[in-house]
Amino acid sequence: MSDVQMRQGIPIVVSAPSGGGKTTLCRRLMEKLSGLEFSISHTTRAPRGQEKDGVDYHFVSEDEFKKLISEDKFLEWAEVHGNYYGSSLDAARKQLAAGRDVLFDIDIQGGYQIKEKMPEAVLIFIVPPSMKVLEERLRGRASDAEEVIQKRLKAAREEIEGAVKYSHWIINDELDCALETFSSVVVAGRVELADKQKMMSQVLGS
Ligand code: ADP
Ligand code: 5GP
Repeated sequence: MSDVQMRQGIPIVVSAPSGGGKTTLCRRLMEKLSGLEFSISHTTRAPRGQEKDGVDYHFVSEDEFKKLISEDKFLEWAEVHGNYYGSSLDAARKQLAAGRDVLFDIDIQGGYQIKEKMPEAVLIFIVPPSMKVLEERLRGRASDAEEVIQKRLKAAREEIEGAVKYSHWIINDELDCALETFSSVVVAGRVELADKQKMMSQVLGS
């Protein structure tokens, strides 16, 4: 897409309660649209399952994380479910400067911090159609103990209530339909933030 090459990338923040379908939708979006990259967060939590350092997260100790905070290395950071998570400022700047749109899969505290620093950021909140469906999906994923599922359901209510200032809410009911809306929001952000000055020069040939 020519307008992607012509401009600075857009920060796209995607948040959802755990089990809302953020991972599934982000993966599908990356297959559908070009010019998108993930922001790989730092976290103090331990790797899960097949997760790889430098691919899924940069796994660091609490001391290392706090050092990075003191050195202002994060675009945003937050404590989520008892662990620290943060997005590298340096990495995001490089990706955006290269004209890549960056997907931040982060919680709402982080989303609001990015919006403060980068007002052009597009904030997207993925919601399940109901709490009942969310519970079914969390159980269907079969990766969490009952106690964890109950904690996530409680946290989900708070996250949903806290996300009112996100500009775009997408109900993840039927997956293909949610993906279509997700993709439309990102494309609309690209059109809105396209570098009009450069486009004008190109069209007018000056
Ligand atoms: P999150 O990353 O937000 O925690 P996931 O993407 O892991 O959520 O989705 C939670 C579970 O729900 C997964 O098992 C996923 O396959 C399933 N899921 C996601 N979206 C849908 C959908 N629209 N319909 C049915 N199941 C879905
Ligand atoms: P998980 O441990 O399940 O991978 O992620 C837990 C939560 O932390 C999710 O809501 C996820 O979006 C959020 N998260 C992941 N990385 C970051 C980050 O860099 N910053 C913030 N604020 N939240 C993050």
